[in-house]
Amino acid sequence: MNRKNFLKKITAGAAGLAAMNALTPASLLAQQGRRWDSRDYTWISNHADDDDESRRRLEKIKNAGLDGILPSGHYERWLRLAEEFDLDVHAWFITLQRGGDSYLIENHPEWFMVNHKGESSVEKPAYVDYYKWLCPTRPEAQEYIMNKVDEILEIDGIKSVHLDYIRYPDVILPIQLQPVYDIVQDREYPEYDYCYCEACRSKFKELYGEDPMSFEKPGDHEVWNRFRYNQVTHLVNQIAVKVRNRGNRLTAAVFPTPDIARTLVRQNWSDWNLDAVFPMIYNHFYHKPVSWVGQAVAECRREMPATTPLHCGLYVPEMTAIEVSQAYEYAMENGAAGITIFPDHSMSREHWDYLSMTMVKG
Ligand SMILES: [Zn+2]
Repeated sequence: MNRKNFLKKITAGAAGLAAMNALTPASLLAQQGRRWDSRDYTWISNHADDDDESRRRLEKIKNAGLDGILPSGHYERWLRLAEEFDLDVHAWFITLQRGGDSYLIENHPEWFMVNHKGESSVEKPAYVDYYKWLCPTRPEAQEYIMNKVDEILEIDGIKSVHLDYIRYPDVILPIQLQPVYDIVQDREYPEYDYCYCEACRSKFKELYGEDPMSFEKPGDHEVWNRFRYNQVTHLVNQIAVKVRNRGNRLTAAVFPTPDIARTLVRQNWSDWNLDAVFPMIYNHFYHKPVSWVGQAVAECRREMPATTPLHCGLYVPEMTAIEVSQAYEYAMENGAAGITIFPDHSMSREHWDYLSMTMVKG
């Protein structure tokens, strides 16, 4: 029996774990005395369970060797529970996508992004109903976000403000998601191309003398693209100043590789002033094998300051237990400081077992 078939066979049962452990590169490295010095996390998006159920989740997270959690809400509750397990808590903050913000939608629909057809993302959201996006160009919108950040900073014990959806809507969806919405995005189409709100158009006109609404192929317009990158970058770096002044840290979930991030969502995150970055290196979204995780981490590292830690995001629902472990190794070998799992509740017992064996720390 060759190794591949053998691995396939033992994947099914826990009895195979010891045998698998003897075969993985991680355990070989461990035998040679090599250890990864990683810091690892999980995004937490499911808040429905009671305290005891949450404790059981945190116990699994802790036992696997993870160092902290990034809950998308209920920060105080998660802080209280995570303390029992000595896990860090980072406040995952959905920033510009405000589809759930009924106050804002009702009171300031004019602050939301507008596409190249002139349609507001409030009235005609792209792809899904919640794709209602605040425009970062408006000073009032910036202030609104800064106030939300202030609210997070009031909470004692948060390790970082963790920005997410800090970008434009996808002008092009990752290749795997296009059939989900029954569309082919072989180029940029006006209904997915943002932002052409009054604030963006007049600011651009003032700076460069042209109305971007009149561009025939706006995606080819270098200055217009750069302008859009900078609207988000400016907001992030403003937030960074505030967060640091309050003695805290700023982190962000971003699209994988700076190139993909710029092309798909106009997110130029390598220019951002972050304390750590969490690229969502979801290989299946881009029809890539698990080994691409390593290539993508290396690509990110090439554009990042050497001192900024990178925690490689992994999309567990489409990964086998072995793939998650392999992705960890690919990420670490290419300069990651650790991984971040999305989401914790998609990790099966097998996923946790394999990962805890791979993450030989110390
Ligand atoms: Zn705008």
